[in-house]
Amino acid sequence: MVNTLVGLNRDELRVLVQRNNEPAYRGNQLAEWVYRHRAHTFEEMINLPNKLRAWLSKEYEVGCSQTLAAQHSRDGTIKLLLAMGDGAKVETVGLPYADRFSCCVSTQVGCPVGCVFCATGLSGYTRNLTAGEIVGQVLAVEEVVRNQQLQIDGHTRRIDHVTFMGMGEPLLNYTATLKAMQLLNSELGISMRHLTVSTVGFVPGIRKLAQEKMQITLAISLHAPTDGLRRQLIPGMTKWSITEIVDACYEYFQQTGRRITFEYCLLGGVNDGATEAHELVRVLQGLNCHVNLIPYNPISGLSFCTPTRKRIVAFREILDSAGIRVTQRVQHGSDIDAACGQLRQRTL
Ligand code: SAH
Ligand code: SF4
Repeated sequence: MVNTLVGLNRDELRVLVQRNNEPAYRGNQLAEWVYRHRAHTFEEMINLPNKLRAWLSKEYEVGCSQTLAAQHSRDGTIKLLLAMGDGAKVETVGLPYADRFSCCVSTQVGCPVGCVFCATGLSGYTRNLTAGEIVGQVLAVEEVVRNQQLQIDGHTRRIDHVTFMGMGEPLLNYTATLKAMQLLNSELGISMRHLTVSTVGFVPGIRKLAQEKMQITLAISLHAPTDGLRRQLIPGMTKWSITEIVDACYEYFQQTGRRITFEYCLLGGVNDGATEAHELVRVLQGLNCHVNLIPYNPISGLSFCTPTRKRIVAFREILDSAGIRVTQRVQHGSDIDAACGQLRQRTL
C-alpha cells in the first residue's frame, strides 16, 4: 500500500520530519498544507525545504484516492466513485444543503455482514479502509462541491457533519474509524457532536467506543425487535442478542451521556406491523434513545418492498404514543442510487 500524508495526525507528521533532521514545527506546516490548504503535490508546499520535499515525494503521496466519477442528484446530493491506491473502489456521498453540509463516508470496501436488504452487503467484502482513506472521502467531496460552487457564485463551503453510514461496518474497522474521527475533529475542525457512527450491533465495538467517552452520536441499526427476525435480516451478526446490544447501549449512555439513535429500516410486510412496533417499544423502554425510521430504498434484484405511507404512519404512532422519540429519515439521492443501503462495490 502507498504511504500517504492524509491520515497522519500532527504527532506523526512531526515525527516524520524529525526523522529527516528537521525541526518539529515543519510537521505543523505539513499538516497545514495537507488539511488546510488541501495541497495535492509536494511542489505546492513552498515553505518547506527542498531536501524534505524531495524525500517526501520519494516515500509518500499526499492523498490516497482518485475521483473516478461524480453523479449529481436532482435534490443536490452528490455521489463519488473513488479509486484507492490499490485500485479498490468505494462510494461516498455528499449532502450540501442549506442548513448543513454533510458527508456519508464508507469504512470498508464492501461489507462482511451481508444484511439481506443492503446493496453493500450483497456486493461482498474486500478489505478495511485506512483512516486516510476515510478522511480522504471528506476532502474529495468538498473539492467537487467547491469547484462547482466557485463556478456558480465564487462561494466555498466546508463539510460540517460526517456520518459513518456508507459502505461497511465501522466497528469492524475500529482503529481506522477512531483515528478518522479524531482527524476530522482536530484537523478539519468538525465538532465531535456532528460525527455519527452507525453500527449493525457489534457489541465489543460499542463497549470499547463507550470507553473513549467521545461526544459523537452512536446509531444502532436494529431493524427488528426480536432475535429471530433480526437473525433473518442480518445473518452475518447473530452472535449478540438484542438484550446484549441494548445493555451495551446503556453502558454507552452512562459513559458519554449521549442519547442513542436506533435505525429501523422498514420492510413492507416483514418488520413494519403493529406487533413489531409494540415489541420495539418493549425493547427500548427506559433507554434514553431516539428511533429513526428508514423506509426501505429499493435495491435491484431484491424483492422487498417499501411500506405504504399508511403503515409507516401507524408504526410511528405506536412508538410516539409510548413516549419514544421517533423521526423518519428523508430519502436523499435515490435517483443516483446514493440513498441508505444503495452503495455497492463497483467495477466500472
Ligand atoms: N454498517 C453500518 C453502517 C451503514 S449505515 C450499519 O449497518 O449500521 C447504512 C444504513 O442504511 C443502515 O442503517 C442500514 O441498515 C440502512 N440500509 C441498508 N440497506 C437499506 C435499504 N435498502 N433501504 C434503507 N436503508 C437501508
Ligand atoms: Fe453492512 Fe451495514 Fe449494509 Fe448491513 S446494512 S450489509 S452492516 S453496510
